[in-house]
Amino acid sequence: MSKTFKNYVNGEWVTSDSNETISSINPADNDDVLGLFQASTINDADNGIDSAYSAKKEWSNISQVERGNYLLNAAKYLENNSGKFADSITRECGKAILESRGEVGRAIALLQYYGIEGSNPIGDVVPSINPKILLYTKKIPLGVVSLITPWNFPLAIPIWKMAPALVYGNTVVLKPASATPLIATLIAEMWDYVGLPKGVFNLIVGSGSTVGERLINNPKVNAVSFTGSTNTGKDIAVKSAQNGNKFQLEMGGKNPVIVLPDADLNQAAEITISGAMKYSGQKCTATSRVIVVGDILEKFTELLVEKTKSLIIGPGIDEKSIVVPVIDKHSLDNIENMINKAIKDGAEIVHGGSKINEGFFDKGNFIQPTILSNVEHDSFIACEEVFGPVLSIISAKDYDEAIEIANSVQYGLSAAIFTKSLNLSMDFAERIEAGVIKINGETAGLEPQVPFGGLKSSSSGNREQGKAAIEFFTNTKTIYVDRSAT
Ligand code: NDP
Repeated sequence: MSKTFKNYVNGEWVTSDSNETISSINPADNDDVLGLFQASTINDADNGIDSAYSAKKEWSNISQVERGNYLLNAAKYLENNSGKFADSITRECGKAILESRGEVGRAIALLQYYGIEGSNPIGDVVPSINPKILLYTKKIPLGVVSLITPWNFPLAIPIWKMAPALVYGNTVVLKPASATPLIATLIAEMWDYVGLPKGVFNLIVGSGSTVGERLINNPKVNAVSFTGSTNTGKDIAVKSAQNGNKFQLEMGGKNPVIVLPDADLNQAAEITISGAMKYSGQKCTATSRVIVVGDILEKFTELLVEKTKSLIIGPGIDEKSIVVPVIDKHSLDNIENMINKAIKDGAEIVHGGSKINEGFFDKGNFIQPTILSNVEHDSFIACEEVFGPVLSIISAKDYDEAIEIANSVQYGLSAAIFTKSLNLSMDFAERIEAGVIKINGETAGLEPQVPFGGLKSSSSGNREQGKAAIEFFTNTKTIYVDRSAT
């Protein structure tokens, strides 16, 4: 019998008025149910928002340093419970356990960073043209912020949104992806343990079309921070603009790697495959296209296949597994359909291509790491996000053509180049249309103290993480104090 978990509203654990639940399923073993969670209604969403609304005045009035201290205490809690969090991430979203531990480490670093941010300046003193005027700016909280998050980083993404939101004085309502409500519940337990004042953090589990929509449209909400698919993000942008609310969107990617003939090909292949196949390509920054320049195509393709053959496929809980199950059966079918369409469009499979159903694999959502060659740069598979372990090889006659191909899609999240040329590396950083750029590095993998976000359809432009987060989660007051007045 699975345990039933509750929403967290105004410091209390509460059930939904729907009397219905949704279940969280282990992607590596679909018979393993992690628990039952509230299938919340619009009314439940309103209760969460009312709670955040009631708490916002008191929370914004306490010292920012004190708000930061709550985050530092949360970081300690996470450190003390890191094993439980990492195991739960692997069980709930399928991630390899080493990567889950990395995600927990990142969440701790984020809480520490924004905890310390509690003691940092939140405005500037600016010279006035009149020496008698003290001219300064002050950052003020937005109020109630809705956080709508995806399943692929069920701990790090909610934390990198809520940590700055809270330290700058906002109250929040979190709606996690329906696939990963357990991690969100563990986050609520963390805030409960550290004694965050009632109503400052609220958790409402439920569907995007019910709870998610309400978290955008309720008039007491002041801003929405979202990570997820491009279609949902664009919808949120329209609705938020209509409501006069601030919105922050991090969406899809179709991240390219360019390999030049002078590169260390063995290292480039190793890193390209790591970016494409780890976590089965389910990172928004995963490598999805490799654009190979000049006459190294055959040699580089062989290296990619060789590296892929050595990857161990298995459940995330096994420390040796690199290629893990994808989130659910729907995603599995979608990836297979995209591979089949690519073949119809003229691509060739040089490795993988099929679901894995033998033995214990049948219980989970496994698909072979897949490499496609002969991919046309403007074909469906080369332009649309797969969110699976699928890498498309595209050939380019020279560096300029490779840049043109890399920039030809609607996305612009992350990109990498492999070369020994300093000049071309710098030129790449200038010309590539991406928010995150790696020179001789993996498209995936970020540090929390620097801004993160994409260009074009990958992002709404306002950056997350690092110092940049303050721009989204606050408004600015400009204050003129005329000391000559009596
Ligand atoms: P979705 O857009 O389907 O879901 C993201 C969140 O939005 C979920 O909580 C979902 O709820 C909710 N949602 C769905 N529909 C609505 C709606 N109409 N109104 C409000 N909220 C809604 O994306 P996935 O969860 O499938 O995540 C995968 C996608 O996210 C990929 O395309 C990936 O590229 C992108 N992504 C981007 C990242 C980035 O930083 N750029 C990072 C990680 C992922 P529910 O689960 O209940 O449907």
